[in-house]
Amino acid sequence: LVAKVARHRIAVLPGDGIGPEIMNVTLEVLRTAGRRFDVEWEFLEAPIGGAAIDAAGDPLPVETLSLCRRAEAVLLACVGGPKWDNLSSKQRPEAGLLRLRKELEAFANLRPVRTFSQLLDASPLKSELVAGVDLIIVRELTGDVYFGEPRGIEFIPEGNGEREAFNTMLYRESEIDRVAKVAFELAMTRPRRKLCSVDKANVLETSMLWRSRVSTMAASYPDVEFSSMYVDNAAMQLVRYPKQFDVVLTGNMFGDILSDEASMISGSLGMLPSASLGDGTFPAIYEPIHGSAPDIAGQNKANPMACILSATLMLRYSLNRPDMADAIELAITNVLDQGYRTADIMSAGKRLCNCSEIGDKILEALQESA
Ligand code: ATP
Ligand code: MG
Repeated sequence: LVAKVARHRIAVLPGDGIGPEIMNVTLEVLRTAGRRFDVEWEFLEAPIGGAAIDAAGDPLPVETLSLCRRAEAVLLACVGGPKWDNLSSKQRPEAGLLRLRKELEAFANLRPVRTFSQLLDASPLKSELVAGVDLIIVRELTGDVYFGEPRGIEFIPEGNGEREAFNTMLYRESEIDRVAKVAFELAMTRPRRKLCSVDKANVLETSMLWRSRVSTMAASYPDVEFSSMYVDNAAMQLVRYPKQFDVVLTGNMFGDILSDEASMISGSLGMLPSASLGDGTFPAIYEPIHGSAPDIAGQNKANPMACILSATLMLRYSLNRPDMADAIELAITNVLDQGYRTADIMSAGKRLCNCSEIGDKILEALQESA
């Protein structure tokens, strides 16, 4: 009998700051899981962000983009850092990441927010409020006021030198529909089958269109318990009683703000992964929600779990390997149960690990549970 070995080609973008450290650990975890589940990896590594500016004068070199297009999925750590702070907004490391999302048409950003029972004390919210939270924010990623034209800063005619600035909040029906469909389909796969769409339809034209399109789509998903909520109320409800939420669908700017707020339910940025999906034409992008953490970069102190959990989202959504994702998540749970912590989630009586040490503990747990 010959075991069937699956091969997967992944674009690996370590980026800047703590990126290379957490990506190293993540690739080791994937290699170990691969040996256990008969998966062979082809990791294609390329620079993005500041590393790419230094190497090629461009935060998203054409070689990096074409390598991403040839892969099944893109695994990215984080970009940016003080070294490149003085560049113009289009030349900065972050511009490379925005362009990558746009080029790969990654319009749906999925951010699962869950609590780890071992880390309840890491949240500033009361333990009984956050215990058992399991929600997922679906944030539209390639439209809204972040991309709408016209935008600018101009002198007001006859304004005696006074300037005004403007942005355009813009959504097309097709842009709303495609991200809403991702959210409804996702809700159908979850036990509670709830979807809350967040907008500001009492004030904004884009939100009125958003609400009408999403409500229309809700009619074709009778099994999904659908509701709409104004964004100001949603911000309040997220800390008042987060367990009421299952899938939260929202636009680019509201999603940006609400998902940072929601990260405090879990307690640490270092635990939160994300997936940026398109319609399947191009590979999806998987990355932790945190940045490059310049304050601890190069010190082997970072928590690699957000990056590892992003890889488990890749296993679920792009590679159809929930078995491997489950095994890796179980290894992380076991390591937390054993009391090992990185500095960002450290508390009294626990055992402090650096980035590579916690990585080794996860590898051991992954081998032991086999
Ligand atoms: P960005 O603008 O790229 O999102 P940011 O300014 O929000 O970046 P981060 O780089 O995310 O900042 O860091 C915010 C804080 O969280 C820093 O103190 C950083 O050290 C810490 N932090 C972020 N990620 C991690 C991690 N994986 N492990 C430990 N600490 C982290
Ligand atoms: Mg940030």
